[in-house]
Amino acid sequence: MALEPGTVPAHWYAGGRDCAGRPDFNVQAYNDGLYILRQAACKNYEKPFLYLILGDERALLLDTGAGKVDVVTPVDTLVRAWARRHGTAILELVVAHSHAHGDHVAGDSQFVGRAHTTLVGRDSAAVRAFFQFDRWPEGAGSIDLGHRVLDIVAIPGHQPASIAVYDRRTGVLLTGDTFYPGRLYVRDTAAYARSVARLLGFVNQHPVTHFLGAHVENSRTSGVDYPVGTVDQPDEHELDMTRAQLVELDSVVQSMRGRFVRAVRRDFTVWPQQP
Ligand SMILES: [Zn+2]
Ligand SMILES: [Zn+2]
Repeated sequence: MALEPGTVPAHWYAGGRDCAGRPDFNVQAYNDGLYILRQAACKNYEKPFLYLILGDERALLLDTGAGKVDVVTPVDTLVRAWARRHGTAILELVVAHSHAHGDHVAGDSQFVGRAHTTLVGRDSAAVRAFFQFDRWPEGAGSIDLGHRVLDIVAIPGHQPASIAVYDRRTGVLLTGDTFYPGRLYVRDTAAYARSVARLLGFVNQHPVTHFLGAHVENSRTSGVDYPVGTVDQPDEHELDMTRAQLVELDSVVQSMRGRFVRAVRRDFTVWPQQP
């Protein structure tokens, strides 16, 4: 089956300290069934990207934002509109996470105790069970949203419960904080090296149209990032990454042979952290 096409906007202006009149999220449709939500910088400098993928029976929201943010309103609006367009009475909502760091789970409480909503636990055991991994992290997980299967790849290293999500319908791969144009913080170097290799192995066996992570921290200038805490990023790197950049990350990581040092590349920096 041909992959459904869509558009990743080239520009994501999220900046400005003034929140007046600005919604908490800049919502862009990739296509009819996949949405990208970028949190406004005025709400939280992390301004993460969230993703909403809709199938015939369920929708999956990946991540819930940073700081004090209203995530439930835009998500419900998108889900209701989709259901109306497709003549569906009720879509179940699954809320999962690219990983458990605070800038990706802050809106979780808005989904607790709601009808037709499942909030997936944040630790690796809960993630493993929910996506029915046979083994973790080497095995394969998945979820069927209704004529829309998502493959889940476990990629611990940045954080123990990190996952990548692959949408078979569009070929979009969501890579969280493990692979994006910015500072790739590595907590567990051995796990991260294996995860990047595993992710590249997956990519080599599946058609990937876009590599979309959870932040943009780099500028368009090679190797230059915006420092931590930057609100305004008027010249930021595009969100989309490439297979060639993942190959580059894999070769950088494997060449360090477990002795990680900070490595600045054109589009990302590998940034080991003390455990
Ligand atoms: Zn993180
Ligand atoms: Zn993050």
